Order: sequence, then structure tokens, then C-alpha cells
Amino acid sequence: MSNRNDIKLVFYRKLRRGRLAQLLVSVAALTFIVVFGLIHLIMGISPEVWEWWMLGTSEVLFLAGVLGFVYTNNKMIQISTQMKAVNDFFSEPVYLYPENMFVKAVHKFSRVKRGYHTGTLIAINVKDLHSDILNFYGSDEVKAINYIVFTALINHFHDLKKYRYGFSYLDSFLLYKKTNDPESFYAELDPFVEEVNRRISERAKIPSITLLFGSYTLGKKDDIREAVEKAVLASRYNDNTRFSNTVVPFSQDQVDVDTNEKSLPFEIMKGMKEDQFQIYYQPKFNLHTNRFYGAEALVRWSHPTRGLLPPSFFVPFSERSGLIVGLDHYIYEHVLLDMKKWAKEKKRLVKVSINISRKTVYDDGLIDFLSDKLKENGIDPKLLDMELTESLAARDTAFLLQLVNKIKALRMNTSIDDFGVGYSSFNSLKKLPFDTLKIDKSFIDDIEVDQKSRDIVKAIINLSHALGIWTIAEGVETREQVEILKYLGLDSIQGYYYSRPLNNYEFQKFLADNPFERKEEEQ
Ligand code: C2E
Ligand code: CA
Ligand code: CA
Repeated sequence: MSNRNDIKLVFYRKLRRGRLAQLLVSVAALTFIVVFGLIHLIMGISPEVWEWWMLGTSEVLFLAGVLGFVYTNNKMIQISTQMKAVNDFFSEPVYLYPENMFVKAVHKFSRVKRGYHTGTLIAINVKDLHSDILNFYGSDEVKAINYIVFTALINHFHDLKKYRYGFSYLDSFLLYKKTNDPESFYAELDPFVEEVNRRISERAKIPSITLLFGSYTLGKKDDIREAVEKAVLASRYNDNTRFSNTVVPFSQDQVDVDTNEKSLPFEIMKGMKEDQFQIYYQPKFNLHTNRFYGAEALVRWSHPTRGLLPPSFFVPFSERSGLIVGLDHYIYEHVLLDMKKWAKEKKRLVKVSINISRKTVYDDGLIDFLSDKLKENGIDPKLLDMELTESLAARDTAFLLQLVNKIKALRMNTSIDDFGVGYSSFNSLKKLPFDTLKIDKSFIDDIEVDQKSRDIVKAIINLSHALGIWTIAEGVETREQVEILKYLGLDSIQGYYYSRPLNNYEFQKFLADNPFERKEEEQ
């Protein structure tokens, strides 16, 4: 406990000192004025001299003091608010440096002489957990994970003679040690990782996590803010192939990869403003009625210089940077506008699925936004289906249950996407009342040759039907796959076999005239 108080003290002492200094200046200025007033009264200094003194010196000083005081005070309020958010976020107080303060603290602490810094920075990421540190939102599980990592940081690196820690605005924890030996610093991470893993394994409800580390060793003339960015970048680098516990030091080729990304957020924002994103629709075929009954909305970026870009180019980045929330809203709005247009033009209206990304799920305004937009455009909520990915369902069951219930209350549909890839698919199915289950493409790919895949798909279909859930398979490319799935009792199909995702115009043309429905009518 005393460690935490130390940190709190350092944090506030600095501020208090600043405020005290400002107060002293104000008091000095006031004294100055009063003393001159008295001298004037007693000795009768000439009015010109008096005026000169008053305007020229005392008032300026006094004003500077007051302004300085107000500024420091505001700053203090601002920082306390920030700290309060951190404290509200955790159940007991922890005092950490938010990025700005961390940078300042390290700047001071790491300096050996003017312009020379030493020591090593480490950025720590929880794999697949994005941005929840900064926004203080997320399910209890996400909060618990952050809390465990923070507490372990405090427990292992509390010695203010050696370390500083905090968190970055890009969902990383930050750690600095004043040392010339990075390797031995890396070795100190082992007990830290052990503690994190142990505490997570003690909590039955939290899935195990992987920690990713990136480092940057400070040298001459290094700018600390840039150094922090570099450590964060290194920690995110190639995060699919890495094991927990290895520290990836920063290297220049990581920057070269990332320089594209640096302009990407601005390009994405501009793209949204200029309507460069387009919605494509991939039809869904009902195997009972042999009719197309729905479509999945899939975003494409019609980039002014790079051409039509697939989601893989910008969705993962948007998810990491948090831009996805705005992008998802843009997509929903455009989907509803398309639907309104179809209705107005008396075109065929089918149910449209939209993808809700992991971050958008936590957007409090999401449901209100959708129901307002539905009303505004006069669209029946039953025509909207929300696809939530299974990996999210597994992690955030309690939170998602509330969300799914809210969606249901508005009479919209819900689908569980990518079903079968995660490790607790069946658990989420038991707990969450989804309307539709989407079997992941990976089970479909080898369904013609692999009996096990067929058995699994069969089991998923049977189970879904027992629970009253509609089934759909995605990524179906061949006629044989269609036949097998039909035989296994599947309800519907989405895949290249029927159609690739189509733009608005092509999609309506397809619905009006396509070989699959026509064939049925002819029979
Ligand atoms: P997803 O939600 O699993 O979407 C299905 C992906 O499978 C789409 O890729 C679709 O074009 C592709 N696909 C469909 N049928 C076949 C097939 O028969 N064979 C093959 N090989 N692929 C098929 P796409 O459009 O590139 O989207 C990729 C991912 O990007 C999506 O996976 C989704 O996670 C994300 N995404 C796409 N659009 C949006 C969006 O509007 N919002 C959000 N948040 N994410 C989106
Ligand atoms: Ca989807
Ligand atoms: Ca999917």
C-alpha cells in the first residue's frame, strides 16, 4: 500500500509545488502594490512616477501571478479529473502516469545531461485487447485484465529510483527503467508475466491472455514522446507469430511499414467526409424456399489513387486506432440510405446484415443511433440483422447478453458470426439468444473431403435447430458444398457460389434477374 502512496505523493507534490510558486508570485505582486501605495500616501511621490510603477511593473506582475495561478489550478483540476477516471475505473486507487505525464516524467528521470538520455522503455500490449485502457469502458472481464496487469506492474516496478510506468493512448502499458543493460531489464519481466498469468488463471471467468512486449533503448538526443511511440510500435509488430515474454526491440523497418499507417487515419477520415467508402452486398440464399432473402453489407474503399480497397486494408487498422466506431456508423447510415432508396424505388427489399466490430459494441449510443436511423428512414427493424463475431461473444458474454436483449427489444435480428473458430462457441450459444448462427468458412473449405468437418457442421446445425436458431454457412464456393450442406439440413448459404459482394446497382440487378431463382421458377 505504501508504494502506491509514494506514487501518489510524487504525482501531487509536483503539482502542489507549481501552484505554490504561482501563489507566491501573486502575493509578492500584491505586497508590492500595497507597499507602493503606502509610500505614495506617506511620502507623496509624483503622480507620473506612481503611474509608471503601477502600470509598468506591479500590475503586470500581479496579473501574471493571477493568470499563472488560474492556469495551474485548471491544469490541476484537469489532471485530477483524469486521475479520478483512472480511479473510478479500478476498484481501489492506483496512481499511474497517463501518456503525457509519463513522457514528462521519463524525460526528466532519464536525462544524464542536457540532450542526453539513457535507459530503456518497454511497451506492453495485451494481445487482442485494444484501447480499453484509455476509454475505461469494456466488460468486467476487460477491466479485470487491465487491472491485473496494472497491479502487477505496480508490484514489480514500484521502485521510483529505477522505474516509471504508465499507459499510452494507444492501448499499451508503458514501463521505463534507468539502466544500461536492456537484457537484464527484459529478464525482470519474467516474474511480472508469471504474476499476471497466475492471477488470471485464478479468475475462472477470464480467458488466458498473451502479453506482447516492445522496447526502445534511449540514446543521445532522443525525443521521449517519439521513443514511446517506437516502443509501442515494436510491441505491435508482427503480433500474430509471437510468443508471450519475448521483447521485440524497435527497428527501422517497423517504421517503414508504419509510415503508411501514419497517414492512414487522416486518409480514412477524409474518405468518410468525401463518401469514398462504398457498401457492397453479398446475397444470402434460402435453401428451403430457393430464394434470396438477405445480404451482408461489406465495406469497400474506393480510394482516389489506390483503387478499390478491401476491408483487410483498412478495417484492422481502424480497429486498432479506434476509427472503426466512426466508420461503422458511416456504414450503417449508408446501408439505411440504400434501403430507403430501394423502398422508394419499389425495388426488392431483403434483410441486410451489418458487421458490428468489437469496439463499436461498446459504443453506448449504438442502439439509439440505429433505432433513430431506422425511424428516420422509415425502415422496418426486422430488415436489419447485426452480426457479432464469436470471439467477442466468448470474451464478453455478460455484456453481450444485455446488448443482444436490447437489439431484440427493438425487433432487429442478431447473428453470431465466424461460429466455431473460438474456444467457447458452445458456451456463448448457450448464454446468448442469437437468431442466426453463421458457420465459419474454415469448416466449409474442406467439407467435401473431410468427414470430421461434415460431422462438426452437422452437429452445429442440429444443435442450432434444437435451440430454434437459423443457420447459414459462409464462404461456400462450389456446387458440391451446396449439395452437402443441403443434405446436412442447413437453412441458408452465402458465398461466391451464388455471388460475390456486389455494389448497390449490381445487387439490385442480381435480385431482379439471376440464374438461381430463375431456374427454380422454370422447374
Ligand atoms: P466477415 O464478416 O467474415 O465477412 C465475410 C468475408 O468473406 C467477406 O470478405 C466476403 O467477401 C468473404 N466471402 C464471402 N463469400 C466468400 C467465398 O465464397 N469465398 C471466399 N474466399 N470469401 C468469401 P470481405 O468483404 O473482404 O470482408 C472481410 C472482413 O472485413 C469481414 O469478415 C469483416 O470482419 C470485415 N468487414 C467487412 N465489411 C465490414 C464492415 O462494414 N464493418 C466492419 N466492422 N467490418 C467489416
Ligand atoms: Ca460478417
Ligand atoms: Ca464471418
